Amino acid sequence: MIDVQTIRQDFPILEQTVYGKPLIYFDNAATTQKPTCVIDKISTLYRMQNANIHRGVHYLSQMATEAHEQARATIADFVNAPYKDGIIFTRGTTESINLVAQCFAELCQVGDEILVSQMEHHSNIVPWQLAAERFGLEIKVIPIDIDGNILLDQYEKLFSRKTKIVSVAHVSNVLGTINPIKKIVEIAHNHNVPVLVDGAQAVAHLKIDIQSLDADFYAFSGHKVYAPTGIGVLFGKREWLDKFRPYQGGGEMIENVSFDKTTYNVLPYKFEAGTPDFISSVALETALNYLKNTNFEEIIKHEDELLKYVTYKLTQIPDLQIYGQAKQKCGVISFNIKGIHHFDLGTLLDKTGVAIRTGHHCAQPLVEFFHQNGMARASFALYNTTEEIDIFISNLKRCVDILR
Ligand SMILES: *Cc1c(COP(=O)(O)O)cnc(C)c1O
Repeated sequence: MIDVQTIRQDFPILEQTVYGKPLIYFDNAATTQKPTCVIDKISTLYRMQNANIHRGVHYLSQMATEAHEQARATIADFVNAPYKDGIIFTRGTTESINLVAQCFAELCQVGDEILVSQMEHHSNIVPWQLAAERFGLEIKVIPIDIDGNILLDQYEKLFSRKTKIVSVAHVSNVLGTINPIKKIVEIAHNHNVPVLVDGAQAVAHLKIDIQSLDADFYAFSGHKVYAPTGIGVLFGKREWLDKFRPYQGGGEMIENVSFDKTTYNVLPYKFEAGTPDFISSVALETALNYLKNTNFEEIIKHEDELLKYVTYKLTQIPDLQIYGQAKQKCGVISFNIKGIHHFDLGTLLDKTGVAIRTGHHCAQPLVEFFHQNGMARASFALYNTTEEIDIFISNLKRCVDILR
């Protein structure tokens, strides 16, 4: 068992009241709150260790460089990447996917096909659309069923000689579905097609093992795993990263520059143009170490209990429809109540101190699949409690009474 009350003390923002009510933060799929150790780390680094990395001969620069590279190693270890040179720092999942989409599309022929699923976040759709427009590629959509499961047999039927890459979410940010990535990768590899996994919603809530999944690319964001905004990760297999042309040019990513011919740096620096955000990479390392030291298995169990509890409680409310009934789910639950607009519900709930998300959740094609124009969504993290869920449910019922 994890001691949630002790954990809560690590997150200073949770001590707040909003509109005079204790804050209940159920918008963790949008971003997670930061523990004191992460906040303090950022402050300490600026106070004690700030310097541009990989450039200076001086003490501070060397310290900063070491810390940044140690962070890379810790991150590789946390997600069990096969080697740390495959870990590229980006600004977030969005940039990681854009990097792969642009670099990969350059290697394709006109008419080649990309497979993405119906449940993708916009940042796993639009980068592929941009690349497709530029290079004359086509996007095919992997269908899902009404419970929010990818239809694996239909998925397999989409493959042809033109299929060049598959890009799917590990965990849906709307439905909470945990996709069978291992199986999805296996099927793609049987057709010699690589797979990008959008892990934005997974890394904080599941044990990630990139080697066991055999994912060719794995993307995630720091801010969804208790680390700062502005830092993200792309893991890529060497066989692909070596083939890619650099995504951006500038300092850091070069080996030698002349006006006749510029040569590029080795992995991972080839994809890290400009001054790296070493403060955030180290803060991300701190966040991952915090998770590791808190007993990650127990965190997963705790979040699963929260999901089961809230699902049961929501099922008791009349005219409430839950979207996403997959067997394997993370702590995300989306719903609508008949006759009540999700936005009104979210706005009223906010006044009771409960923060949820409403709208299309950056996944419009998915929301439309359910014939909705938006949904209310509650999403959980390690610091949430069943007591908070009780308050949420009772406030939700009061809001429904007011809005009816
Ligand atoms: C949040 C999210 C993204 C985008 O992450 P950014 O941090 O905004 O780049 C992509 N996919 C999923 C599933 C997400 O939840």
